[in-house]
Amino acid sequence: MDQRQKTPVDKKDVIIIGGGLSGLSAAKLLKEAGVSVVVLEARDRVGGRTLTVKGPQFQYVDLGGAYVGPTQNGILRLAKELGVQTYLVNEKEQLIHHVKGKTYPFRGAFPPMWNPIVYMDYNSLWRTLDDMGEEIPCDAPWSARHAVQWDNMTMKELIDQLCWTRAAKEFATLFVNVNVTSEPHEVSALWFLWYVKQCGGTKRIFSTSNGGQERKFVGGSGQISDRMAGQLGDGVRLNQPAVRLTQTEAAVYVETLHGDKYEGAYVISAIPPGLSMNIHYDPPLPPVRNQLIQRVPMGSIIKCMMYYKQAFWKDKGYCGTMMIEDEESPISMTLDDTKPDGSCPCIMG
Ligand SMILES: Cc1cc2nc3c(=O)[nH]c(=O)nc-3n(C[C@H](O)[C@H](O)[C@H](O)COP(=O)(O)OP(=O)(O)OC[C@H]3O[C@@H](n4cnc5c(N)ncnc54)[C@H](O)[C@@H]3O)c2cc1C
Repeated sequence: MDQRQKTPVDKKDVIIIGGGLSGLSAAKLLKEAGVSVVVLEARDRVGGRTLTVKGPQFQYVDLGGAYVGPTQNGILRLAKELGVQTYLVNEKEQLIHHVKGKTYPFRGAFPPMWNPIVYMDYNSLWRTLDDMGEEIPCDAPWSARHAVQWDNMTMKELIDQLCWTRAAKEFATLFVNVNVTSEPHEVSALWFLWYVKQCGGTKRIFSTSNGGQERKFVGGSGQISDRMAGQLGDGVRLNQPAVRLTQTEAAVYVETLHGDKYEGAYVISAIPPGLSMNIHYDPPLPPVRNQLIQRVPMGSIIKCMMYYKQAFWKDKGYCGTMMIEDEESPISMTLDDTKPDGSCPCIMG
């Protein structure tokens, strides 16, 4: 008998792989419905792509997912239920568009374009992207009338087709970079249009006021996962990377890197698709699913916070939002990350 067979099996109705917001909220819902669950988390902490770090100089800071706004109703409802409050990101003063080494203050979601030809091109781009999104059903994007055509082109190809002016093309590139942390040539046009549509369209996804960057959580987004994990108690197991999933007629078995075994009637995989390649499946995944997970890399993003003695930008009439179009600049977007009580003046890039 090998070592693995000796390991006692932990039995639950549902095994959830991944202790990020998705896995924990699935576990919370199931537990509330009387279903027994266990969440297996690979790391030594919950929260996944949200991470709140605490420190005496800055109180707390979100290094991962942080911003929420209208249309993100699930997380807003969950935070309220868990007693985590939100605050408005500062956008009282003017925003800045930095392009070709010059700085242009503005107000609103998008920086204005002064050249009338560029202006028409730019307006037509947003209108066309939203019109295309209208055609895409949220729950079945592949059934859109032009699904095959749009999925066969990248956002770069679509931008090149739609925009006539360099200024509009360059801003459209920034728009893709900021929203999906990828280059336009890396993403399917169908996928990007579907993503933007679900976030309420081009204006809403990009805006602070009444948009995707409207709010942050007082105390940090990590509290949401921490509080759910607190409610789930020993239903959350840390340092348990799932490496093998075996399905039989009777049950599903999940084995972790250290040889612990779990048995359930169902498994929920709440990990990013690309990471699900680290798990061995028996029987193997269907070929189409296998091909998909080999072709969905994660985006790439680094957040950087600069703390200052004073919010000097506010004294100059700026809110701290900068949209930066400059190949040399490592940062393309900034927001004021000062705490809601005005302490720890900060710009997030
Ligand atoms: C820097 C950054 C900034 C972001 N900003 C925002 C924002 O402002 N607003 C917004 O809405 N979204 C933002 N996002 C995206 C948001 O954070 C994610 O969409 C969300 O956190 C994903 O949650 P999830 O539970 O689906 O996945 P994840 O958070 O990735 O959770 C998956 C979990 O599974 C674990 N895991 C992986 N493999 C295994 C395995 N084999 N066995 C067991 N466990 C495993 C991982 O360790 C992880 O904890 C940002 C993301 C990043 C990285």
